[in-house]
Amino acid sequence: MNEMSKIAAQPEYSEAVRNQLKRAPALFIGGEWVASSHDKTIAVYDPSTGKEIARIADASDQDVDRAVAAARTAFDDGRWSGLPPYQRQRLIEKLADLLEAAIPELAELESIDNGKPRMASEHYDLPRSVATLRYMAGWATKISGEHIEPAGVPAGTMHAYVRREPIGVCAQIVPWNFPLMMAVQKIAPALAAGCTIVLKPAEQTSLTALRLADLAAEAGLPAGVLNIVTGLGETAGDRMVRHPDVDKVAFTGSTEVGKIINRNATETLKRVTLELGGKSPVIVLPDVDIRKTAQGAARSIFANSGQVCIAGSRLYAHKDVFDALLEAVAENASQWKVGPSLAPDTMMGPLVSTEQHERVLGYIEQGRKAGATVLAGGDAPGGDGYFVNPTILVDVKPDMSVVREEIFGPVLTAQRYDDLDEVARAANDTTYGLAASVWTRDVSAMHRLAAKLKAGMVWGNTPSAADTALPFGGYKQSGFGRENGRYGIEAYTELKTVAIAL
Ligand code: NAD
Repeated sequence: MNEMSKIAAQPEYSEAVRNQLKRAPALFIGGEWVASSHDKTIAVYDPSTGKEIARIADASDQDVDRAVAAARTAFDDGRWSGLPPYQRQRLIEKLADLLEAAIPELAELESIDNGKPRMASEHYDLPRSVATLRYMAGWATKISGEHIEPAGVPAGTMHAYVRREPIGVCAQIVPWNFPLMMAVQKIAPALAAGCTIVLKPAEQTSLTALRLADLAAEAGLPAGVLNIVTGLGETAGDRMVRHPDVDKVAFTGSTEVGKIINRNATETLKRVTLELGGKSPVIVLPDVDIRKTAQGAARSIFANSGQVCIAGSRLYAHKDVFDALLEAVAENASQWKVGPSLAPDTMMGPLVSTEQHERVLGYIEQGRKAGATVLAGGDAPGGDGYFVNPTILVDVKPDMSVVREEIFGPVLTAQRYDDLDEVARAANDTTYGLAASVWTRDVSAMHRLAAKLKAGMVWGNTPSAADTALPFGGYKQSGFGRENGRYGIEAYTELKTVAIAL
């Protein structure tokens, strides 16, 4: 344990949030709040204290069927897809405005539910969610097909074109690390494209999605367009994935569950997009500004307590700068103030759950036993919450579990390399392929590495450049399909070819 690790008490919740926590567990189906058919509930904990703070409904099969039926009707009768696109745009913008006005309350709720610092919720997750809604609202009026000249008939004898139509009913299943942001990243393009939705937030962090349902109703989204069911993955989530009236499944979460979902969606050949795990490399060349690069590398792994699919969890530093860089990253790590989510000076909150806490500490122990040296952290600072100190492991080998597996916590492994081919091979030596960052002023080396890295996203001189306009998604076992930008909208459309003999 070190000095910074004395954990302060979680400050009191605001009255607005206390009122939210008192809400009766309910599901948002067909534009109304309804009770679950079987009255089962799930406990919600504040990860900063380990205390139960609320209960949410644990949707039954019957509840999921009701939600899918509501979404099916709302899609089939055209109450949403049949609207003038401009009207869809305006309604999504209205939702964005309401969300923006509710940022202080929702940011607090998110932090209490997930454990992330309130500063992060307020200045990143929430504004980013608002921006995504606004960006995608603009696409509602810009989805179009194209005219194509057929190749095998005389010119002018056939009129052929391709239409883009909404896919239909979408089951959207999201994880707990950026609860509202992930939910919005899924619903915004689906709404813009004219689809209807059944969204299931993660059972650990459903509170902000429930508030989003309130705001959707207030914005005037027609009943049944957005349905929100809370519940467990293996039951409610599974029912959504297998349901014959669902046309598409969009999932963000672990690779393990992504594989299960992909298998189960196959029975009815649903469209599937999967945003899964990662073990992203951070590659540092010898010409960098050590202080700035160390800051970026630390942010890449310690932000959101490392519970980030694109976290830069494997640092590869050139042998000429390895020692200086690691010293600077360790120094930076010592400045990440660990504390409860609502304390104003907290930079790193607890992990989301006691399961994650045990899992992350377990990985650190495995690394130690396998011969890794702990350069920083490596321990839990105590307290009732699920805290882990920012951790750096050196003397690691490529076959150690801490290097190969996604830890999903604030744990960085660092290795040295000699030349670019060697580091590209090492960086690609993983089953994942989500993101990578490269740090150098050498433009030529940057582009050569960018081409060699097997990852869906390569960032230069920044820990991440996730942006609503830029495609987001992975190679290999990090999933398939892309979110954000034009590709993210197109993922919610089917192509129809129309050819008419003239
Ligand atoms: P998880 O895969 O256990 O759960 C994610 C969601 O899937 C939850 O809503 C859960 O209820 C649901 N679920 C679980 N089992 C299911 C099943 N059999 N059928 C249908 N739904 C099911 O993941 P998690 O532990 O909540 O999140 C952490 C993981 O998510 C990490 O591995 C991380 O890398 C990954 N992640 C990836 C991205 C990305 O964009 N690539 C983003 C965030 C998180």
